[in-house]
This record gives sequence, C-alpha cells and structure tokens, in this order.
Amino acid sequence: MKITDRVARIVNGDTTARQEVETALAKAKEAKGYHALLSLTADRALKRADEIDTRIASGESVGPLAGVPFVVKDNYLAFGAPTTAAVKILENFQAPLQATVVDKLEAAGAICIGKSNLDAFAHGASTENSAYGVTKNAVDQTKVAGGSSGGSAVVTALDIVPFALGSDTGGSIRQPASFNGVYGYKPTYGTSSRYGVVAMASSTDTMGCFAKCAEDVALVTSIMAGRDEKDMTTLPDFFEPTTFVQPKLRIGLVKDAMSDDVDQEVRGCTLEYVERLRAAGHVVEEVEMPLLKYTLAMYYIIIPAEVSSNLARFDGIRYGYRAHDVKTLAELYGRSRDEGFVTENKRRIMIGSYVLSSGFFDAYYLQAQKARTLLIQAFDTLFSQYDFLILPTAPTPAFGIGENTDDPVKMYLADVMTVPASLAGLPALSVPAGVSKAGLPIGIQLIGPAKSDAAMLALAGSMEAKE
Ligand code: GLN
Repeated sequence: MKITDRVARIVNGDTTARQEVETALAKAKEAKGYHALLSLTADRALKRADEIDTRIASGESVGPLAGVPFVVKDNYLAFGAPTTAAVKILENFQAPLQATVVDKLEAAGAICIGKSNLDAFAHGASTENSAYGVTKNAVDQTKVAGGSSGGSAVVTALDIVPFALGSDTGGSIRQPASFNGVYGYKPTYGTSSRYGVVAMASSTDTMGCFAKCAEDVALVTSIMAGRDEKDMTTLPDFFEPTTFVQPKLRIGLVKDAMSDDVDQEVRGCTLEYVERLRAAGHVVEEVEMPLLKYTLAMYYIIIPAEVSSNLARFDGIRYGYRAHDVKTLAELYGRSRDEGFVTENKRRIMIGSYVLSSGFFDAYYLQAQKARTLLIQAFDTLFSQYDFLILPTAPTPAFGIGENTDDPVKMYLADVMTVPASLAGLPALSVPAGVSKAGLPIGIQLIGPAKSDAAMLALAGSMEAKE
C-alpha cells in the first residue's frame, strides 16, 4: 500500500496511528532473527501516535505523513533510544538533539519506531562490520543484507515499515536496496541536511531513503529536502515531486559496467530493463565511461582521508566509551579508540592519515582529487548528450555471510558501480529489476545530472506502471 493511501486510512478513521505503530512494532519483534534493528523507540512512538490520533479526532489538520511508522539508520541522532552508529565507542550514547531530517519527518506526522543496524560508522558493504552483530538478508538469511544501511533495507523489504532512512556515502543505500529488492535513493549532494547524522565522509555523505515504490521515495524526499542553516552544504529546496516523464528520453547504458566481470544474471536484468525502457519509447544507447575502473581507487583514497579527519573527535573524552585503567592521556586516547573502533574503522583511519601525510599528500590525495575532477567532467560530457545513465547497482546479487570478510579489497569491489555518482555528487536510484535463479533480488541503477532527482523518480515510477 502506498504511503498516501496509508495516511488516508488513518485520517479517515479506518485505522489509527496507534494501530499502525503497534503493528509495526509487533512485526519488528517477529523479525528479530534478521537482526535488522538495534533498538526500538516504542514508548516515544506510541506517545506520538496517540497525540496524532487525538489531533485527528478533534478535526485538526495533520501532516502528509501522519501516523506513518518509519525506521532510521542508527547513525542518525534521534530521541527514544541510543545512537550507536554500530560502534562500541558510542554505546549508550543518548543524542542531545535530533537530525534535521528526522525533525522534519516528525513534523510531517511520521513516527520513528526504531533504529537499524549498519556497518560500524557506515564503513562497509554488508552490515557485517557492525559491532553488534550481522544483519541477514530479507530474502535469504544465509546472505548479507548489503551495506552499510543493511538494517534499513531489510525492514523495508520485510514490510515492517513503508520507508526507512539510510545514509549513502559510496553506495550504502543503493547496494543494500538492490540486495533486498526495494528502492534505494541517494539524492543530489546537498538535497537534504546532514546535520545530526554521524559524519562519514563529508564531501559525499547524503541522506536518503528506502521504500517500496518511486512515488513513496518522492513523497519522503519532498519532506526531507531543503536548505538547513545548520548544514552549509544544503541547497535551497529544488525538489518538486512529479509524475511527468518526458517522452523519448535519451538514456546511456554504461558499457564499462557491463563487462564479463559482472555477474551474468545482473547483466541480464539490466538489459531487460533497457528493453523495457525502449518499449516505453525511450532511446537507449551504449556509452563509454573509461574512468569507471579508476573510481574505486579514487574513492578509497578520498573517503578514508575524510574519515580519518571526521573520526578524530572520538577521543574517549567527549563521547561514549572510555578505556579503563589508563595511566596517561595518550594511553586514554589510544586505548579508547583501539577498543571503541572496529577493524575497518581503524583501517580507514590509517589509510586516511597516510594519504594526507606531508610525504604522500601529493602522490595520493591530490592525485585522487584531480582524477575526481576528470570524473565529474566525464559525467558532464555524458549528460550533455543523455538525460540519464543506466548501469547495474552492484556487480553481483547478495553474497554469502562471511564470504568477503577475509579480504577488504574483495569487499570494496562491491562498491564499484555506486561510488562514481557519489564522487560526482549526482542523484542515483536503485530500482528492483528482477531476481536471480537462486531467488535473490537484483537492482539496476539510474544516475542523473545534479537536481534531476524528481524527473529520475518519475521515470522509475512510470516503468513500474508498465510491469
Ligand atoms: N561500501 C562503501 C564503503 O564502505 C559505502 C559506504 C557508505 O556509503 N556509507 O565505503
């Protein structure tokens, strides 16, 4: 059921906000085995539901998301439960404020019922890096949920809530969306505020959502989007939901993302979607993006650099965990960080500190930033000829739990299709496009020029109607 229909039922008295929240909480408890949620915010959620029901009963106007339960990734600061970012260093950390986007969704009447599992500090592609245990795939519990927003993808796929928030720095919304068969949307950089979300890499962090259809993504985005004085990189609101799709769009199929290295069934699904786009009257042509093969190298230099800087604030003094039995200040910092971070966090801090160090800055960080500029220019050239690009969301369907944990580079390869849009700040959407023979969901990815978000969602929505 679409979100607008859910809200209509609540407002018309066919159900109540309390009933909706109670149902979501009950489903969440039933689905405990997936380990998709780190906490429930039941008391606060029920109280808010009652407030909304009272307002409806007294004929007051309520927001466009009145009574709709949702889940936030546990790196969003939100009231009602700790904000752990799935790391020990933030265990029991109670947020003193809420993320701007959570406040906005609440002002529109939505009700947060819980906080979802993620890779520690959002570093990862499988939700296996969480300090609090692995999240299992919604379709096959022997497979990973994808990551880093794995928990939010799974609660959406299991229909616990109609939408959930994730953060996408290099694919963390799109890739788990693909692995669990739901929509996952990463907006144009700056569309919605990052304020109150634990920072990973500030130049590519974006706040977006998972949902079951493009229309729901657009509705939620229309509420999240807009300028926030507390995040100087936010854009003035440009997001206008629409269902208008220009006829005969020109769409580029990224050939470099369709090589033999990519799973055959993933390529098959992508080509099927291309055929459906053609059948709908759009023009799809192969395009080349030779820089694609260098984007992972750029990403895994630039992002660790920003990570090492953003994680410097976790020193055992100001937040959360502090090591015991220490003798010196240096030991306090060192041991708190050693015990509070997971291995992948430390790996990124070390890589980041290395590429930013005076001896290697020019050779790595500066080169990577120059290459990033070339990537942005390559996208600009493609978008002077094409309205959108299409490519797979991930090179494979969900892989097995434990399959890639011994080799970080193997894990990083899961990001090869998603990091280009992140580095260029472009909007990108993972659309459920099929299932493998083994029954695993496969997503395709649309990428558009900056601020084409609403048009891209409209295109995806129009393709649903043709299913
Ligand atoms: N998998 C990517 C990484 O590990 C993306 C992370 C993210 O978008 N938060 O960096």
